[in-house]
Amino acid sequence: MFNKILIANRGEIALRIIRAAREMGVASVAVHSTADADAMHVRMADESVCIGPPPGAQSYLSIPAIMSACEITGAEAIHPGYGFLSENAAFAQIVQDHGISFIGPTAEHIHIMGDKITAKDTMKALGVPCVPGSDGGVPDLETAERLGAEIGYPVIVKATAGGGGRGMKVAQTSDDMRSAFLTARSEAKAAFGNDEVYIEKYLTTPRHIEIQVFGDGKGRAVHLGERDCSLQRRHQKVFEEAPGPSISAEERARIGKICADAVARINYVGAGTIEFLYEKGEFYFIEMNTRLQVEHPVTEAIFGVDLVREQIRVAAGLPMSFHQDDLKIAGHAIEVRINAEKLPNFSPSPGRITQYHAPGGLGVRIDSALYDGYRIPPYYDSLIGKLIVHGRDRPEALARLNRALGELIVDGIDTTVPLFHALLEEPDIHAGHYNIHWLEKWLARNNANT
Ligand code: ADP
Repeated sequence: MFNKILIANRGEIALRIIRAAREMGVASVAVHSTADADAMHVRMADESVCIGPPPGAQSYLSIPAIMSACEITGAEAIHPGYGFLSENAAFAQIVQDHGISFIGPTAEHIHIMGDKITAKDTMKALGVPCVPGSDGGVPDLETAERLGAEIGYPVIVKATAGGGGRGMKVAQTSDDMRSAFLTARSEAKAAFGNDEVYIEKYLTTPRHIEIQVFGDGKGRAVHLGERDCSLQRRHQKVFEEAPGPSISAEERARIGKICADAVARINYVGAGTIEFLYEKGEFYFIEMNTRLQVEHPVTEAIFGVDLVREQIRVAAGLPMSFHQDDLKIAGHAIEVRINAEKLPNFSPSPGRITQYHAPGGLGVRIDSALYDGYRIPPYYDSLIGKLIVHGRDRPEALARLNRALGELIVDGIDTTVPLFHALLEEPDIHAGHYNIHWLEKWLARNNANT
């Protein structure tokens, strides 16, 4: 096992990793920008190193600064968290080339899954069901129009290098294809410096279902069921739950096995998430995230496992501490993302926290780097905390969420907490009746009413 690891991240996820390391007897090194000198991850880690000025590009994304911090402190491994450098194949390679362990998959796997066409081709070859669409990139409008007719409208034009919901345009009919194709291509060029696009059948009312997988890098892999992350605003998840209210045990076992077998065959190492759109009983692969997800705690809650601990174990060459047969679901878990944002427009709301009180009690977990008097810097992601609740079943988890939200106090800034209070009033949420468009429609309706 490592003696010391460096965490190339900030905020709640940095705390999450420090906590797992400490329980394993592994020392932690925090890195931080000058804007984060007073941040909780710096206070909680065993050591810390300032790696640059506030902008991410000059600190949390600066590979030379992070490698220097590793060198100075003698850390033997780097955990990238999520976001920042977590899915940067070049970073994973550089870390490895310096004789440091990267707590994540290989650079090759990050690279393959980072390009959506290669990812889809790879998954298809591994037997994972995909959305019908073009085989690879679509070179010109003529081809796009021919494919649109073949696949059948509506279709979606997506950037190969896409991410964060950008570079995607829907063509409802053949009349829309010209504008969808040209806009998606120019957006892709502007956002990613790569104008290659591909085409998929557009699913009209799917749910977002993702399968958590975990591999040991030696041909053994397991799945830890699904998370339903359909409640999204602008393709960003806001509320996640496990198990998915629409997924049966048989479906879970079937798609879970397909995913675990696929990653086992490529000797995948560590945590990964295979994302699907799910409609009318069918799963359609959209992408794979080669890292820990923000919403991993709901899976941890229902399976009683510590995914970060497992990541550190396999990176150190130890076996996973569970087999597929050990993994049994107990109860239901829900996570809500608390962002420093002002409703109804979700505009950023950085500032000083005048009072903070975290909820507690049975089945309640808060992953947050907040504290009384903390000043949220304006430079980074607006996620300031995650509230995770676990109950014996879904109704109990929802009641617990309501109770815990009522105890939470975050004063001095605006947060997305009122959104969750309002969602808990909705019969559709209690019934589990929602798809990826539900929240946008609800927001449009409710904003129109206010
Ligand atoms: P990104 O990497 O930009 O997040 P994804 O491929 O994961 O892009 O897609 C993001 C979201 O876009 C999905 O969660 C879904 O809401 C929507 N989407 C993507 N592909 C399709 C499709 N074929 N049909 C319907 N919706 C889609």
